[in-house]
Amino acid sequence: MKKLTFHPDDSVHAFITTVPEVSYGDGPLSGITVAIKDNISTRGIETTCASKMLKGYIPPYDAHVVTLLKNAGAAIVGKTNMDEFGMGTSTENSVYGPTLNPLDHNRVPGGSSGGSAAAVAAGLVDCAIGSDTGGSIRCPASFCGIIGLKPTYGRVSRYGLIAFANSLEQIGPMARDVITLSKLYSVMAGYDPRDGTSVDKPYSHTPSTDIDGLRIGVPDEFFGEGVNPKVAEEVKKAVDTLESLGAKAEPCSLPSMKYALSACYVISTCEASSNLARFDGIRFGPGVETLKSWHDAFSDHRKAGFGKEVRRRVILGTFSLAAGYYGRYYQKAQTARQLVRNDFHRLFKDYDVIASPTMPDIAFRFGKMSDPLMMYLSDILTVPANLAGIPALSLSCGKVDGMPVGLQLMGRHFEDERIIDTAFAFEQGAV
Ligand code: GLN
Repeated sequence: MKKLTFHPDDSVHAFITTVPEVSYGDGPLSGITVAIKDNISTRGIETTCASKMLKGYIPPYDAHVVTLLKNAGAAIVGKTNMDEFGMGTSTENSVYGPTLNPLDHNRVPGGSSGGSAAAVAAGLVDCAIGSDTGGSIRCPASFCGIIGLKPTYGRVSRYGLIAFANSLEQIGPMARDVITLSKLYSVMAGYDPRDGTSVDKPYSHTPSTDIDGLRIGVPDEFFGEGVNPKVAEEVKKAVDTLESLGAKAEPCSLPSMKYALSACYVISTCEASSNLARFDGIRFGPGVETLKSWHDAFSDHRKAGFGKEVRRRVILGTFSLAAGYYGRYYQKAQTARQLVRNDFHRLFKDYDVIASPTMPDIAFRFGKMSDPLMMYLSDILTVPANLAGIPALSLSCGKVDGMPVGLQLMGRHFEDERIIDTAFAFEQGAV
C-alpha cells in the first residue's frame, strides 16, 4: 500500500469530510484522487447525505463502486457536499451550508452533486463520483464547466447508494476531461448481484473522435420557453461544430416532454416517501453503547429530523400514494413515463444521439431560486433521460456572461460509448 496526504484548500466548501491520510494500491487508477458524494457508503468514513438525520453514521460496508475504485488503486480522499438526500439543484439544501461555484463564488455550483463538481472544477481532486436522479450529475457538471455522465440505468451498481428514487437514479463519473471520465467509468460499470437491477454490461472503451456519419437529433422542445436564448445559441453552435466534425444534425420533436417534469417529480417523491421511512432516528446514526445514550441519540435525531425540502417531498409522495389519489397521480405519472420512453425509442430509430442544452440557464446566484417550484422547473431538460433510463452526459461547450454552458448528449440504452465518443470529438475538435 502507498500513502498520500490530502489537505485541500477547500475555500468553496466542496467537502463534508476529508481523509487526511489515504492509502491506495496498484491498478488502473493507482494514486488517482477521487471524491465521493456523501450519499454513497464508505466503510469507516462518515456518510451523512448532508442531513442531520445521518450525522455521525459510519457505514460498516463500502458501496459496490467504492470497492471497485479501491481495487483499481484509486485514492478515496473525501466525501462531498450535496443537497440533503439529493433533493435540490443548487447544493443549498445541505445542513452543512452551501458549496460555492469555483468559477464565481456568488453563484451556486448546481446540484445535487454540487460538492463533487466543485471539487473537480477547483482542481482539488482528479475526478469524482456523483448520483443522478433527475439531473444531479449533469446540472453541476454544466454549472461548473466539467463533464459528468449519468450511465444507462443498470450499468453501475447502486448497492450502497443511499436511495432517493431508485427507479430513476444512477451513480456516475465526473471529470475535467473525457479520457479521465472514461477511465473512471470503466472501473465502475459492470454486473453486481447485490443490485437487483444490475445489468451485465461492462464498459471497456477507448474514446474515439470518429463521429463521421453520426446522426444527431435536436429536439425543438428542449429550446423552448424558459431556456435562455444565449444558452440555446451556444448549444446550437456546438451542434454546428459536431457537424463540421462529420456528424449530421436535424431538428426533431419529443412531444411527451410536456409531461416529463411532473411525472419525474411525482415518481421521485413517491419513491422517496418509501425509501426515507427507514430514517426513523433508531436505525442509523452515531453508534450507541448504552441504553441511556441510545435514548439520547434517538431523541436528538427525532428533534433534528429532516430539512424543509426533504419533509416537503416526503409529504408530497405520501399524499400522491394515498388511496384515492394513487390513480390520479402515481399511475398517471407512470403512463407519462412510458410516453417519454416511447418517444425516445422512436427518435433513436432515426438518430444515434440527441443533443440539447443541459440546463435552461447558467449557474444562478445564491438566493435567486427561493421558490421551490422554480427550482424544480430548472430540471426540465435533464429529467427525460432519467425517466427513460438512457445514458446522458453534460460537457462544457461555451460561455454566457463568463459562466459555462453545458451541452447534453443522450444516447440509446447501453450506448454510453457513443455519447462519450461524441463528447470526445467535440472536446478535441473544439480546441
Ligand atoms: N434536482 C432534482 C431534484 O431536486 C434532481 C435531484 C437528483 O438528481 N438527485 O430532485
